[in-house]
Amino acid sequence: MDAYKVIEKDLAHLPRRPNLVDYAALSRDFDWSRARALLDGLPQGGGLNIAHEAVDRHAYGRRADKVALRCIAKSGGRRDIRYHELAEETSRFANALARLGVAAGESVFLLLGRVPELYIAALGALKAKCVVAPLFSAFGPEPIETRLAIGSGRVLVTTEALYRRKVEALRGRLPGLAHVILIDEGPPLPATLRWQELMSAASPLFAIPPTDPEERALLHFTSGTTGRPKGAIHVHEAVVTHHVTGLYALDLNEDDVFWCTADPGWVTGTSYGIIAPLTHGVTNLVVEAEFDAETWYGVLAAERVSVWYTAPTAIRMMMKLGAAAVRGYDLGALRFMASVGEPLNPEAVLWGLEAFGRPFHDNWWQTETGGIMIANFLALPVKPGAMGLPLPGIEAAIVERQADGSVAVVEAAMVQGDLALKAGWPSMMRGYLNEEERYRKCFVGPWYLTGDLAKRDADGYFWFVGRADDVIKSSGHLIGPYEVESALMEHRAVAEAGVIGKPDPIAGEIVKAFVALKPGFSASEELRRELLGHARKRLGAAVAPKEIGFLANLPKTRSGKIMRRLLKARELGLPQGDLSNLESDER
Ligand code: ATP
Ligand code: MG
Repeated sequence: MDAYKVIEKDLAHLPRRPNLVDYAALSRDFDWSRARALLDGLPQGGGLNIAHEAVDRHAYGRRADKVALRCIAKSGGRRDIRYHELAEETSRFANALARLGVAAGESVFLLLGRVPELYIAALGALKAKCVVAPLFSAFGPEPIETRLAIGSGRVLVTTEALYRRKVEALRGRLPGLAHVILIDEGPPLPATLRWQELMSAASPLFAIPPTDPEERALLHFTSGTTGRPKGAIHVHEAVVTHHVTGLYALDLNEDDVFWCTADPGWVTGTSYGIIAPLTHGVTNLVVEAEFDAETWYGVLAAERVSVWYTAPTAIRMMMKLGAAAVRGYDLGALRFMASVGEPLNPEAVLWGLEAFGRPFHDNWWQTETGGIMIANFLALPVKPGAMGLPLPGIEAAIVERQADGSVAVVEAAMVQGDLALKAGWPSMMRGYLNEEERYRKCFVGPWYLTGDLAKRDADGYFWFVGRADDVIKSSGHLIGPYEVESALMEHRAVAEAGVIGKPDPIAGEIVKAFVALKPGFSASEELRRELLGHARKRLGAAVAPKEIGFLANLPKTRSGKIMRRLLKARELGLPQGDLSNLESDER
């Protein structure tokens, strides 16, 4: 994969000087306590509260009238919420929670599409020091119930339609769920409250109480790609990472129009769809509609988006339609594009250059890490296929488990091992909800083990190999699915690829690939042979797939990740496991 040409950067041609230029110096001198000083803290030594940093600190100064959230509804309607208005609305919600008797530390669940109330409720609940737990609005009743139950949901904010369809029937089994708030107007519905009534009765002034940075703020469930989702707990201190990574990895500046396409039901949609951009005082775009390439290009052009943060699954769908579809749009304002969530195949990085005139910058992190940990930076060369370099303040390493249970750092370049991070950055999860043992097992000595396998090259760039669970052991070789998938993606017929190990009596496992084809191609024996041949030429016989299956679509999580465990379970006729986060049209 490192055969791809490095994309060099010419800073002279960038519209502004990047926030991070001298990576080595910045990393060497970085100190989290100094980074904390980039934020305000609550007045009179009152601690640190995410909502203060995201909203209130801008709302009463020169940014008061600046648009904080530009919400574009599915209907095409728009609503601009300025910083002072966002402060008032979130204060009203905090006051409403207080009036309902909801206490600090209790959880407020959000089951909403990307509508303004979602953002107001999240930030208002943070002001009231409640724990915010956003859910995907497309979840079915079962995942909603289990998450509300294990997260001890005390309040749920949703719509009448979602409530009737998914929650009403479970209410009896959730005695802790004291209040359901419906955001739409309408006649009273038993055992629910109306947003409008609560908000108009509440004062727009709320003084955030002193907040210990270690108080719980967010509860985020992992994507469930490898098994049952875990509830990761984050604290107010996390905002330091959100802000710093917004500064360096996303290069946010206050005059940016920023668009993170992720839903807040996935951690990216909260850390970067709500918190990081607002702490920088940017205009944050909120688009309610689901992915559609033409709609997205239209939004990028019409809203003059300057920084865009998206995911490989969307990029692959755009690639399916071809670069020509981008041509008719004026994307002159766009200056930086980043991607997260899955490995970004080199083909996709390069397609960015072809279609948008700039590469997609891959970055790596997890629900557990709370924020971006490894990134390709605007000012630095991009190696297509690499996840990039650790953020200043983050120490990442490849480690190897030792017989005595400890881990040793692998110093040599390009040796595959466990990707580990030195514990201690602000947005590190503080626990898995109700899974103390599992949480404890993530740490060995000073290291947090991510569960991903990677390599580091001589320049310090990290290369993703695969999740530890997905790595294939074939005839003594350890094969990362990402490498095989990326090679298949180079073929003009392939839109998506997912690779698994299939048990085999001789080899232990053989590599089996599933591919979805681009429009204009159809499955045939001839294409299968062509793909097998292409992969063998590209990867060698030991690593190339032995079998290829054609699928119309690959099964994915709601955050767009290919679920290899499901490909495998289906192939082997095994139980499919937790499907709560499976994209519904894949079922
Ligand atoms: P679960 O832990 O429930 O199986 P998940 O790991 O997919 O789900 P997330 O926390 O949303 O849940 O995803 C983090 C994982 O996504 C990472 O550990 C990694 O495997 C993958 N990932 C994220 N970004 C990248 C990237 N840039 N390159 C490669 N893999 C990535
Ligand atoms: Mg995970």
